[in-house]
Amino acid sequence: MNLDDLYQEIILDHGRKPRNHREMPDATHGAEGFNPMCGDRIKLTLRVADGRIEDAAFTGCGCAISQASASMLTQAVKGQSVGQAEDLFSRFHRAVTGKDAPEGDLGCLEALLGVQQFPNRVKCATLAWHAMREALEGPDA
Ligand code: ZN
Repeated sequence: MNLDDLYQEIILDHGRKPRNHREMPDATHGAEGFNPMCGDRIKLTLRVADGRIEDAAFTGCGCAISQASASMLTQAVKGQSVGQAEDLFSRFHRAVTGKDAPEGDLGCLEALLGVQQFPNRVKCATLAWHAMREALEGPDA
């Protein structure tokens, strides 16, 4: 596998046209992530009500993988319960770090699993996810 394969069409598409890339004035939770290895910066915001993620958005800039991962994250967790989002974080994190074969259906997130072969890109793919977990475990969670 070479680096070109890493940039699958779906990653390029999300990288070029990130979904939910916007400010969220009524966010209830938020956290920032910075990946010094690559210079990626992401601010993830969530609006949580009754234990459910009603809205998810992010701002920031960085490489295509970090942006695509954040974009896919916001799509994946919107409408999910906090527990489901945390479960998705765990499954995605274990799969992307190569600790486990993907468990269950990761949907389009599977496109990101190619980074397993490139340890210094794993941080790009997981940056937004760590920010999400930090946001959910923050003082108002
Ligand atoms: Zn990056």
